[in-house]
Amino acid sequence: MVHIISVANQKGGVGKTTTTINLGASLAAVGKRVLIIDIDPQGNATSGLGIAKAEVDKDVYNVLVDEIPIKETIHHTSRKNLDIVPATIQLAGAEMELTSLMARETRLKQSIDEIENDYDYILIDCPPSLGQLSINAFTASNSILIPVQSEFYALEGLSQLLNSIRLVQKHFNKNLGVEGVLLTMLDARTNLGAEVVNEVKNYFGDKVYETIIPRITKLAEAPSYGKPIIDYDPKSRGAVVYQELASEVLAAND
Ligand code: ADP
Ligand code: MG
Repeated sequence: MVHIISVANQKGGVGKTTTTINLGASLAAVGKRVLIIDIDPQGNATSGLGIAKAEVDKDVYNVLVDEIPIKETIHHTSRKNLDIVPATIQLAGAEMELTSLMARETRLKQSIDEIENDYDYILIDCPPSLGQLSINAFTASNSILIPVQSEFYALEGLSQLLNSIRLVQKHFNKNLGVEGVLLTMLDARTNLGAEVVNEVKNYFGDKVYETIIPRITKLAEAPSYGKPIIDYDPKSRGAVVYQELASEVLAAND
């Protein structure tokens, strides 16, 4: 059965896209069939996986608003077993346009139903907001993976995210759960790190992954080469930690 996971946090810059790309590639590397759906108008997962946005003909906007078959938007990436439904800037209009359409919250879910037998994992890279696009992602998902930046205000704003999850549970998807909480961009040079880790563990308990993603320059470089870290520098610490995260995700789901 397919596992559909939204990677979400309405704060920008916390590592959602980096996690989506590299968890996806690490799952693909152990033979899982993985689809990433980019549902952020910034399209960073799209470009980070080497898809030139200027050459994208149809994207997730056309799936949501024009109801074209999602299959027509799927691109293969250079990593075996890893596909993507891209996003381009036209998706920015969907947030407004969806509000006047029928069945607006369930459109992504209905589209994913068409392809659910083709994949083992579908990861949805959410935008930094809790509007219609995130609601579509949450409604279509089994669970939410929440990256949290290891910084002083790590927990700030998370109550809003948990509230949105509860609303989607109540109205559209009663089985939605929290997949896990991932601490990202931990800076080994500051003492702050350990404090934040404790704070997040106190709040989320055993939902917090053992794997913590350190701040690693190569993870920030890889997207400009259009590659996940496992292909940009397979021996790097960044490649190793995301493979460790993939092992935890597999242990929880397989
Ligand atoms: P989001 O999708 O939540 O906005 P990103 O994944 O795009 O966040 O990360 C924000 C920025 O931080 C990007 O420039 C990304 O390359 C960088 N980044 C993400 N994770 C790491 C990390 N572990 N180490 C170093 N840089 C990172
Ligand atoms: Mg992003």
